[in-house]
Amino acid sequence: MQKTREFHRQSIDDRESFWRREAQRIHWETPFRQVLDYSNPPFARWFVGGRTNLCYNAVDRWLDTQGDQPALIWVSTEVDQEIVYTRADLAREVNAAAAILQELGVDQGDRVLIYLPMIPQAAFFMLACARIGAIHSVVFGGFASHNLAQRIDDAQPKVVVSTDAGSRGGRPIAYKPLLDQALDIAGHAPEHVVIIDRGLVPCAMREGRDLAYAPMRARHLDAHVPVVWLESNDPSYVLYTSGTTGNPKGVQRDTGGYAVALCASMEYIYGGKPGDVYFSSSDVGWVVGHSYVVYGPLLNGQATVMYEGTPVRPDAAVLWRIIEQYGVNALFSAPTAIRVLKKHDPGLLHRHDLSSLERIYLAGEPLDELTGQWLSEALDKPVIDNYWQTETGWPILSAQPGVEEAPTRFGSPSFPVYGYDVRVVDEATGKDAGPGQKGVVAIQPPLPPGAMSTIWRNDERFVHTYFESFPGRMLYSTSDWGLFDEDGYWYILGRTDDVINVAGHRLGTREIEESVNTHPAVAESAVVGVADSTKGQEAMAFAVLRNPDLLLEDGARDRLEAEIKTVIEQRNGAVARPARVRFVNTLPKTRSGKVLRRAIVALCEGRDPGDLTTIEDPGALDQIRSTL
Ligand code: AMP
Repeated sequence: MQKTREFHRQSIDDRESFWRREAQRIHWETPFRQVLDYSNPPFARWFVGGRTNLCYNAVDRWLDTQGDQPALIWVSTEVDQEIVYTRADLAREVNAAAAILQELGVDQGDRVLIYLPMIPQAAFFMLACARIGAIHSVVFGGFASHNLAQRIDDAQPKVVVSTDAGSRGGRPIAYKPLLDQALDIAGHAPEHVVIIDRGLVPCAMREGRDLAYAPMRARHLDAHVPVVWLESNDPSYVLYTSGTTGNPKGVQRDTGGYAVALCASMEYIYGGKPGDVYFSSSDVGWVVGHSYVVYGPLLNGQATVMYEGTPVRPDAAVLWRIIEQYGVNALFSAPTAIRVLKKHDPGLLHRHDLSSLERIYLAGEPLDELTGQWLSEALDKPVIDNYWQTETGWPILSAQPGVEEAPTRFGSPSFPVYGYDVRVVDEATGKDAGPGQKGVVAIQPPLPPGAMSTIWRNDERFVHTYFESFPGRMLYSTSDWGLFDEDGYWYILGRTDDVINVAGHRLGTREIEESVNTHPAVAESAVVGVADSTKGQEAMAFAVLRNPDLLLEDGARDRLEAEIKTVIEQRNGAVARPARVRFVNTLPKTRSGKVLRRAIVALCEGRDPGDLTTIEDPGALDQIRSTL
């Protein structure tokens, strides 16, 4: 690993030369004056004074050399459709979308909220925003009205782009009613809603506010919208992510740093070069979808595959079929998807010619050794575990085959990635831990290019949430436990906070509890994440009723459980729906009133609940135990 180590060391010891060199990967309309301005820690400003544009770098820059080559390959097994957009086609669609936004009065710095399934228009509108300097905020289609309303109120979009419906497992899932509901609850009202009508379900349009996309697109199909050259630190997007409170955080990303970081990662981490085909099966609503469905591959002159569908429909060979058909070089997926595939006929793994495929990357949740090993052996391809977060925008820990082919170990996301000065830190003392010692994974700031610049309109929360966890040291806390071994391999050991990860979806238990508590019968609740062999974790809710006698009625338990699940689904979406809801008279709490979640999780997973000296009422744990 000599080369990887040396490369990493340069990136930290001589940050400026390192990133000055990497910055040459993209087009700068105006060169930057300064590589890094770190005069106001922990706020890092990269490539100060430089002017560039994400859309120009992803689309226009490649038109001369790759105009007629595939750029966006859209595959939908939901509606049985496949469309290959060349770079020239993509430019045309993006310009039309940009012209639509301009017609609706969207200007540099205005927000556009995108609530769409995996259809190409999601990418068109993201790139269109980037083209005119508008800030996009994509909301995951699996979220429902409450999540959507919170994001609308925080981002205050001028325009919302949505659709009649998505589709899952061949069944349409209406989006518009959820959006209408969210707009009814939200305090902020966007001026316009653009609806891409897929004709999947009837869709009621609100006069004056809602506009149909198709006729506007037809009017603007030959538009050429000039690129707005942004200062490198101007925001490109805001993507909300769950934390420990009920309010999601708007992760704000810059422009120049993000373009440089993604472009470099496409080569060093993903081994890609212009003309290659990259396939990330993530949803655009998550950070992976932003960085590695839309921006990363396109910025590096690669084609990207955008997939609407599940990994098992029409059969569990569909991912491999897509790889063969389009000559995919790198696949990026999630451990949950692979655990699902593992349950199917292993023969399906060999039905297709996978000779184009060089490597498989898995991220977003812990990759267990068995799953990683199974896939790697079955396909005889390297499987690379990536560890990162919405906040960082690109991997923190990963093997870097574009720097050096180093051996990987199952269960470990390998080594710190260049640009990240990663540490394991003792939670109590704030001191660096040695090999083999468990601690909190932290990053010595400045964060590298492409990582979040702040929380949208809340610098104070940014500093407090991420940089004030350790005594006497300003370090970025990932809120993950981890360690590294004597050989320099790193391991991630779970969250330090109340964030859970269900099938790679990051969910805040506090947000789900707030929904449980809106049920009129519920007094209070605790939601925890419990180990699940397929999804990694699943949510489990414990509720205390205002009137426990309710449970004496026939069938009350099942009825209440179903009602609470429905409330959650309506407010937070199906992703947040807990596997089970159980009823107790009291929750296990400390004397100061904090719910002892770790003890609840331990009981649910059949482990010893550990140190309980601070518990107020030990009987509360017995109640949890008896409901299991
Ligand atoms: P998100 O911001 O939604 O990408 O979630 C980030 C969180 O997912 C991290 O803080 C980790 O808890 C978890 N995570 C992501 N990738 C990995 C990985 N490769 N191994 C273990 N945990 C991971």
